Amino acid sequence: MIWIGDVLVSQGEGGVYNERMLGGARVWDPYRSKLSALYFAGTGVELTPGMRVLYLGAANGTTVSHVADYVDVVYAVEFAPRPMQDLLEVCRRRRNIIPIMADAARPEQYAPLVEAVDLLYQDVAQPDQAAIVLRNCAFLKHGGTVILMLKTRSVDVRKEPAEVFHDTIDSLISAGLIVKELTWLSPFHADHAAIVCIKPEV
Ligand code: SAM
Repeated sequence: MIWIGDVLVSQGEGGVYNERMLGGARVWDPYRSKLSALYFAGTGVELTPGMRVLYLGAANGTTVSHVADYVDVVYAVEFAPRPMQDLLEVCRRRRNIIPIMADAARPEQYAPLVEAVDLLYQDVAQPDQAAIVLRNCAFLKHGGTVILMLKTRSVDVRKEPAEVFHDTIDSLISAGLIVKELTWLSPFHADHAAIVCIKPEV
């Protein structure tokens, strides 16, 4: 990852969401992006130029645009029409983002469009976040990484965030993923945890 002092940046054309520029690079603010917060609060995963990424819950492309600055290609899945309009604007200026308007819970809808990926990133803030990740693991290479941004309050309002966190981890382990990192994203994002897993080699 590229740091200028203690500021995380990415190298690409600015002006995507009025982000600050520093030394010609785009400042990747941990308060605006959970993935950025993971690099501040925990370890995360090194993004490299050869990587292919499947990104679920692309929204208006804020985080997608930074990821695209680092990697080869980002398949960006979003099902809501309004953020998709903004995402398309971002795609116009970055050639390596493939926008896909689809429900991440139904990966069969976009299976013909997506190649095997090195990183599966999920930030959909839905009740069935673990199930959605597991369905999309079919696209992930063996040895590849999953980053799940878990919104612990929206998954089940009757459960404590810590309970949601542990139930989600249990589901991922039961499905054969190897958990590498568990990081709460406070103070940047309240009630959000990042879960980083590896899909084992065969
Ligand atoms: N990842 C974004 C970022 O950092 O810039 C923010 C994502 S926002 C918290 C969650 C997004 O997931 C929303 O735009 C929502 O429309 C989308 N979403 C929720 N459920 C989805 C689903 N099943 N399929 C596709 N997109 C979904």
